[in-house]
Amino acid sequence: MLSYRHSFHAGNHADVLKHTVQSLIIESLKEKEKPFLYLDTHAGAGRYQLASPQAERTGEYLDGIARVWQQEDLPAELAPYISAVRAVNRSGQLRYYPGSPLIAGHLLRPQDTLQLTELHPSDYPLLRGEFQKDARATVTRGDGFIQLKAKLPPVSRRGLVLIDPPYEMKTDYQDVVKGISEGYKRFATGVYALWYPVVLRQQIKRMIHALEETGIRRIMQIELAVRPDSDQRGMTASGMIVINPPWKLEQQMTSVLPWLHKTLVPEGYGHATVSWIVPE
Ligand code: SAM
Repeated sequence: MLSYRHSFHAGNHADVLKHTVQSLIIESLKEKEKPFLYLDTHAGAGRYQLASPQAERTGEYLDGIARVWQQEDLPAELAPYISAVRAVNRSGQLRYYPGSPLIAGHLLRPQDTLQLTELHPSDYPLLRGEFQKDARATVTRGDGFIQLKAKLPPVSRRGLVLIDPPYEMKTDYQDVVKGISEGYKRFATGVYALWYPVVLRQQIKRMIHALEETGIRRIMQIELAVRPDSDQRGMTASGMIVINPPWKLEQQMTSVLPWLHKTLVPEGYGHATVSWIVPE
């Protein structure tokens, strides 16, 4: 089943959180000259048109990136992410949203490499088109979970792995843990960033419990909720689980999250938290 299309959701509050964390990790990895790999298991189309029927139908970006990108008091932690958003909107109007591969492509250096995987028959050619002139990138059509075995460890022994499945299949909640566990066996020093939606809190609790059971240490959790938990339909919050986070990430996210929460949810509903699932 491949009915999920990210174009309906691009630039929403969950993307803002995910791509802020992604950008900060990339910037930390760039502090050393040595190259690194950016592996994106569920890469999407790369670029999303915000004036498209899909984006306009949900209007999710209006409560997401549209609230953030032109704020005058933009915190320094958002600078790398927003520079990637500006790079695809040079006219100054918000017409496009860069997905995780484009954000990485914008921030990575010539010596770094990108491995991007997308399964959807419509999104894969769009993604391939975005990177056809970028010698740093390899774009694969396939199952992203398999790449956690096939592409790890990277030759450079440094890297960020972004795992961002649609969770349209209930098995995704187990597959992410299995995939991380497989990847970690091969590449225990890598940074792993897993995105999750909070639709039913119990599902996330079970996923986190399974992650704890793997024995992996240094697991941080960052969450931004736009509403309180609910048993009704719909996503109330989203989060990023980061394994081996760069040392600055906790402080950076603790500092920027209150601003993001206030800007994305001026009514003050929900919560924004940084915590450790498993410490050192
Ligand atoms: N990471 C992207 C970003 O931040 O811009 C968004 C990705 S979107 C949430 C999830 C993507 O995973 C969709 O484009 C979907 O087609 C794709 N997908 C679904 N199952 C997959 C699988 N098993 N392997 C790779 N991609 C898959």
